[in-house]
Amino acid sequence: MVKKFVFAAEMPYLCPLKISISDQNTMLQDWLPTSAKEVKLRGWDELDVILFSGDAYVDHPSFGAAVIGRVLEAAGYRVAIVPQPDWHGDYRDFRKLGVPRLFFGVSPGAMDSMVNHYTANRRRRSDDAYTPDGRPGMRPDMPSIVYTKILRELYPDVPIVLGGIEASLRRLSYYDYWEDRLRPSLLAECDADVITYGMGEQVTVEIAEAITRSAARVKCREDVQCQADVQCKECVNLLGREAFVEAVKEIPQVVCRRPVSEVPKEPSPEQDVVLHPFVECLRNKRCQAENFRHIEEESNKWHAARIWQVTANVSGHEEREEVSGHEERCEIAIRVNPPYPPLTTEQVDRAFDLPYTRMPHPRYNGKRIPAYEMIRHSICMHRGCFGGCAFCTISAHQGKFIASRSKESILREARQVTQMPDFKGYISDLGGPSANMYGMRGKDLSLCEKCKKPSCLHPQVCPNLNADHSAVIDIYRAVDALPGVKKSFVGSGVRYDLILHEGKNGEFREGGLRYAEELIRNHVSGRLKVAPEHTNPEVLRVMRKPSFELFHRFKRIFDEVNRKYGLKQQLIPYFISSHPASTEIAMAELAAETKSLDFKLEQVQDFTPTPMTVSTEIWYSGLHPYTLEPCYCAHSQEEKLRQRAYFFWYQPENVPKLRASLIRLGRRDLAEQLFGMGGTKVAGQKSGSFNPNFRNSGPGPRGNQSQGKAKPNRYDRGSRSNPRGK
Ligand code: SF4
Repeated sequence: MVKKFVFAAEMPYLCPLKISISDQNTMLQDWLPTSAKEVKLRGWDELDVILFSGDAYVDHPSFGAAVIGRVLEAAGYRVAIVPQPDWHGDYRDFRKLGVPRLFFGVSPGAMDSMVNHYTANRRRRSDDAYTPDGRPGMRPDMPSIVYTKILRELYPDVPIVLGGIEASLRRLSYYDYWEDRLRPSLLAECDADVITYGMGEQVTVEIAEAITRSAARVKCREDVQCQADVQCKECVNLLGREAFVEAVKEIPQVVCRRPVSEVPKEPSPEQDVVLHPFVECLRNKRCQAENFRHIEEESNKWHAARIWQVTANVSGHEEREEVSGHEERCEIAIRVNPPYPPLTTEQVDRAFDLPYTRMPHPRYNGKRIPAYEMIRHSICMHRGCFGGCAFCTISAHQGKFIASRSKESILREARQVTQMPDFKGYISDLGGPSANMYGMRGKDLSLCEKCKKPSCLHPQVCPNLNADHSAVIDIYRAVDALPGVKKSFVGSGVRYDLILHEGKNGEFREGGLRYAEELIRNHVSGRLKVAPEHTNPEVLRVMRKPSFELFHRFKRIFDEVNRKYGLKQQLIPYFISSHPASTEIAMAELAAETKSLDFKLEQVQDFTPTPMTVSTEIWYSGLHPYTLEPCYCAHSQEEKLRQRAYFFWYQPENVPKLRASLIRLGRRDLAEQLFGMGGTKVAGQKSGSFNPNFRNSGPGPRGNQSQGKAKPNRYDRGSRSNPRGK
């Protein structure tokens, strides 16, 4: 039950919320505290953990800092959040809550800060969806580095735990597109003691418990042996940062610095994978490409090995030199522990069922936070994605295995949404990273436990995959049956190759068609977005996407269901230009193919090489990490712009140059398909006019994501590596 906010007389500096929560009974202390006064209001005299977040504090399960704070709170820890601290001047935001008993947590934000701040062309964006009123400039580039540096300067002895997507995807050497250079693990460049990667609930609580246990073994100043439940801040501080790392270094999903001497000399592949050192990757791009295959495979395994990489000690902090050993003062080893096994339904439910207010903190005084507006009436049903798209980071962060919520937990949240005063009966999204993967897993899990394939769908759908859609259909219908719900939409992407997968004996055929009909008939808000991403077979192979023929098949079903029920909905395909393997000819083919389908494209973007994707490694090294074969990539700005122009081939200013270019490339046939025989005219229309037969509208405000706003994607808690996640 969402409660009513009561303006607290003790907090005169706060104004009542302008957002419509008048029927809700919420007290200020229902949010985690963000100031010393709010800490007092809770009756706390000290804090166990202080979280610094690059995002505004929205107390909702789609916002990472809120989830980590709530999970720690549920485990009995006293937590505060400092949202978007000012990193200029006297650092008062970093001082205002003092020193925590256990550690500082840094969460740079639900979205990678560089993707949030810059377009695919590296131009600065003018807004930030995770900030009140979308105001830019409320967080620095790379808060992971900036926030940890300030905290280390102010509190040299207090441990810092760095989490979030930004650090998660930079846990080992990576290509930085914005600086156009290879960089070492973020842990070699920032002042955190450890990084936690992936979804942070389990690992953060386990870190807090490990320190508490270790601190209990430390004698405090009075020379009294502490008990776990009475140990104080002094005890913990006596631990020191080195002992802190010792206490947490075996915890899954922890990344820590170790002496180079600890790197296994003869690693057993099940236990340890030793990567090429960073310096070798700098010298030879092939080493970076070779490394990536191991990184991706270990990220996707049920039982993974530890990963080691020797790296330069970039910052040269003294403590790191000590760790590295005196004989190798300039190097340290980065150790990445394996991930936890996939979460059980009970574990996922627990994270979603915590007492979130589901609203922005009252400090924002009703200001609009675009990322919150997008998800306030939506529900996430699961985590993880087994699609394995080459440009996507979801599986690197959330994992390949699907962790689904129970039907009861989803319905509980749906009931909460129906109680929101501004709810008009429409759930905006019943989704997940790929909406129709809910409840799916391998038929024989013992096979999945040994599997290291990055995708269950590519190059063919795995015969062991249980692609039964009945669970997701059941959820849709149960949510729609709730009082107050008029309709629930699926705003997340769906995998049409999964819908069309029939199984070896056709066992999934009927269920897939039933799902398609349910989806198209009842859960599309006018436009269904799907992500073929390209049409060219070679580009699709590198992207790990299915043949474009499946899009044709799905479109036929879409059109048929619309006809059957008298609907006039649109199918909106997403495409990417300049992805590795994409050439100008491939883009012209894409334009011709989509023209033949009567599409005028609008959901398009240029490929952005973000950390920890196969596509980025290809773009950087020119080699496919799995085959080490060369792969063409469009690097020059000129070619990238030309590839992109094919999305808008019909625009008068594009016609002459694209036509001339195709003729120069010896593809007069494509020029004629697109522009007709006559030169600069678009077939069947006057030069410069739009073809009235096109059903879709022209490029709207979302026409070029790379030039426009960075749209939030709550499922990856902020990776924008693949904004759609499909
Ligand atoms: S379903 Fe197949 S590809 Fe997917 S994890 Fe299981 S065995 Fe591997």
